[in-house]
Amino acid sequence: MRASESGRHISGAERIVPAGHIADTLAALTRRALGHESGTPDSINLKAEAIPRVTHIPALPVSTCEVSSPENGWNEIERVLSSAGFDNAKAIRAMFPDCIGMRGAMLLDADTLERLEPDHARGVRATCMDASRPSPADRKNHFAEALVLASKVLSAPNILGEICVSDDPNYVTGYVATREFGYRRITQLKTPGDPAGGRIFLYRGPKDEVARAIAYLEHEPVIVDLPQLPPTDRFAALAMDLDAIKAQGLYRAPCTGDSPRLASSALDSNPLPPPIDFSSNDYLGLSHDPEVTAAAEEAARRYGSGSGASRLVSGTLPPHLDLELALAQFKGAESTIVFSSGYLANLGTVSALVGKGDVILSDELNHASIIDGCRLSGAEIVVYPHLDLAALDRLLSEHPAPRRLVVSDGVFSMDGDLLDLPRFLEICHRHGAFSMVDEAHALGVIGRTGHGLAEHFACGQPDFMMGTLSKALGSAGGYVAGSGLAIDYLRQKARSYIFNTAPDPAAMAGARMALDRLVADPGRIERLRRNVAFLVRELAQQGIDVATQSAIVPILIGDERKAVAASAALAEQGLLIPAIRYPTVARGAARLRVAVNALHSEADLAHAARAIANRL
Ligand SMILES: *Cc1c(COP(=O)(O)O)cnc(C)c1O
Repeated sequence: MRASESGRHISGAERIVPAGHIADTLAALTRRALGHESGTPDSINLKAEAIPRVTHIPALPVSTCEVSSPENGWNEIERVLSSAGFDNAKAIRAMFPDCIGMRGAMLLDADTLERLEPDHARGVRATCMDASRPSPADRKNHFAEALVLASKVLSAPNILGEICVSDDPNYVTGYVATREFGYRRITQLKTPGDPAGGRIFLYRGPKDEVARAIAYLEHEPVIVDLPQLPPTDRFAALAMDLDAIKAQGLYRAPCTGDSPRLASSALDSNPLPPPIDFSSNDYLGLSHDPEVTAAAEEAARRYGSGSGASRLVSGTLPPHLDLELALAQFKGAESTIVFSSGYLANLGTVSALVGKGDVILSDELNHASIIDGCRLSGAEIVVYPHLDLAALDRLLSEHPAPRRLVVSDGVFSMDGDLLDLPRFLEICHRHGAFSMVDEAHALGVIGRTGHGLAEHFACGQPDFMMGTLSKALGSAGGYVAGSGLAIDYLRQKARSYIFNTAPDPAAMAGARMALDRLVADPGRIERLRRNVAFLVRELAQQGIDVATQSAIVPILIGDERKAVAASAALAEQGLLIPAIRYPTVARGAARLRVAVNALHSEADLAHAARAIANRL
């Protein structure tokens, strides 16, 4: 398979399979071509060819060398080559830049350093090979493919060594292979983002046998018998993945800190001023409201620290019922079902509503919990462009199905923008599709009294109104509100509700009291709104234009490592502003995410705006 776009190569792969597997293999290779990261092809060439015989060879033994820099990696290559009897390892290394950008490999006489490939631009291509236990054909496995290639190369006549660096900018691991030492993985041979890759085959033998070596590399069908990884290597594969994550600036550690997550003004006992927290979704500061924590304490004392069983067995306690009733009332719905988290609410609801043969239409920026619910359901997933409701309308016309669910975040959690709910509902109704909206960041934030999108737009409601107790309500758990029938159905069908121990009573009682406090004092919401407007104005004065319709203010940076560095620099100035990276947002769309809350003072906000401006 070769895929290209306007003549530019995008991806290529080959398989050796029994005749009966040809159709499936071609389909998988087509999927791989269409799903490749480096672009959408406008041309895919698929060729199936009979081969008369195939040789089986063993895979090279594998070892790994962990290095902390490309320089150390290249030193290791020199060391391996010297130990394998190549006297001029340094000179061989110095040839490497000349093979970058060649289509195939440089074929180098290991002793005279003469280039033996007939065409210097094309090089020699090792093809016509496959693994005995192929990984799925529609996904690339760098390591398995490289091991197969290196094993074939070193079984060619007179080829005694190979050096390889991938041209994938995100894949910094490379290898050196010799007959004596096998395949030595080296964890870093270039800096992340660098597209320069290439390979050198090292030849030692008579000149008149070069053609035979090339013919073997390019035409001899070979299957490489991959070893079952020995037990100790199970974790080596995980370590490899972690290395790649670190090399790309995507490694994350749980953020620790023992200060309560409140704005600075609420804290005083610490010798160092505690950081001003712009990371928390506790938008109204209700998680520390004395009445809320008292209600949670009281429930723990009365009902215990855990609920002991699932909701439908014996885990349903008065705090669960109280909260479900209060939420239904607050949302103006007939009924509400509470889950142990917002994540589980989305997972269980989406997968209960649709299944195989049905269709889900999902905004491309929906929260991961919605995406996971879609995948779990088995329904066909049609992703529409972010907030593009005209596209949604058209896609609904194009995808008939027995049941259809349209699902969207109400407030998008990383951009802070809002769904146009009236238009969304009109489209769903017209097409007879279920409508579901996730109001995790809308409850307590959107609408004059924090009731969410329907209040803000003064319009009707979606069939399924999902939200969390973990954000503006300062507790833990998730809910879905809707008609009595809709919620009754979820209680019978949502597996994350049925097969999950009921949420703990303290969280329920805390959320319930938080809801009461929110209703009793809508001034909190007003303060939040004023704070957001103040921060946006301060940023504008510093020349930073940001848009938000919620309490989430995204400041786009782009590069993952730059965003992390900016966040660290802000931490030194006493500001807790997280960098958000892939996979939470798209690669190259890293950002600072400023979450404003009602307890921030104007001084806090002005300080943040100045510090951010200084960092950009
Ligand atoms: C946080 C969040 C969830 C998950 O809620 P948890 O209670 O944290 O599990 C779901 N959807 C959106 C949009 C969210 O931001």
